[in-house]
Amino acid sequence: MTADVIDGRAYAADLRSRLAAEVHDLASVGVRPGLATVIAGDSYPAHAYERRVRRLAEDIGCHYTCEALPADVAEADAVAAIGKLGADPRVSGILVLRPLPPQVSEAALYRALDPLKDIESVHPVNAGLLALERPRFVPSTPASVFHLLDRYLEEAGHDLGEVYRCSNVVIVGRSANVGKPAAMLAMQRGATVVSCDANSDRAGLLHVHTRAADILVVAAGVPGLLRGEHVKAGVIAIDVGINAVTDPDTGAVALVGDLDYASVAARARGITPVPGGVGPVTYTWLLRNTVAAARLAFGVAGARSCTEGLTLQPADRMRAVPAAG
Ligand code: NAD
Repeated sequence: MTADVIDGRAYAADLRSRLAAEVHDLASVGVRPGLATVIAGDSYPAHAYERRVRRLAEDIGCHYTCEALPADVAEADAVAAIGKLGADPRVSGILVLRPLPPQVSEAALYRALDPLKDIESVHPVNAGLLALERPRFVPSTPASVFHLLDRYLEEAGHDLGEVYRCSNVVIVGRSANVGKPAAMLAMQRGATVVSCDANSDRAGLLHVHTRAADILVVAAGVPGLLRGEHVKAGVIAIDVGINAVTDPDTGAVALVGDLDYASVAARARGITPVPGGVGPVTYTWLLRNTVAAARLAFGVAGARSCTEGLTLQPADRMRAVPAAG
């Protein structure tokens, strides 16, 4: 079997052009969406991510600002920086980049976010709304996973509801920002959902579950965690992992996913590459949520019209409910 390559760059380009048009339209009613990132310390992946979202925000015409805090920032100062962005009318969405230094707790920063600017749904109120299937914002990485899956399945002529209802969806990785919300989105689609984490691997259960997956989403941060022999023939495999690996002979650094691409692709029906799969859609989705937040803040035609002005995929339809609270 030769797997279809699910090309995240192409889907992201499509989303990006519609998003740029929407930002242009908002400008005509005096609204400019604004994204703020908060970064503490000098984590290479966090800074690489910050550069990408900055470029995209500027390309599509959004306001952009970055609060770059030193690695030894006190938690109270980091909380104050979040409060300052919350009060800034130019900022409609705030992204707190991980990892944070050990003296700064993620929970403290997330609680300090204005829920209406919390575009990754990490504030307890927004995380709760997501769990209750009333998301204000669907976090960008899991949203991207299901945007890719939905579009791939639709383009193959499938009835999405039927496919998900009949599928065993296995999510490997259970972080609060990727694996757990991805499992919720799979449940919302009516799938049978299995969530695995490092304990599943230690208990010898990981491959039992991955071999039974019709749809496999892997977000563990472990290069080459799953190989061809760990998946079912015909699986649709979405690789969220982004791992920098150094070639011991040449010293060259390459980005790889959590799947051993060649051996999984040899058995899969569809697979996302790394790089060029989930990542590019994630950056774009972050800006989409920023635009939706600007609409909520300025009351421009309601958040729903932002959804309807773009593409009507199921992941989109669930996204921007202007929930109370
Ligand atoms: P995390 O470290 O917060 O969580 C990792 C999860 O994987 C945990 O639940 C852990 O228990 C589980 N895990 C670890 N080892 C495992 C094993 N051997 N078997 C099964 N489960 C295991 O990481 P995260 O923030 O969720 O990110 C995961 C990966 O996704 C990383 O590589 C990260 O760089 C990548 N990522 C990619 C995007 C994107 O847009 N493509 C966005 C966010 C994160």
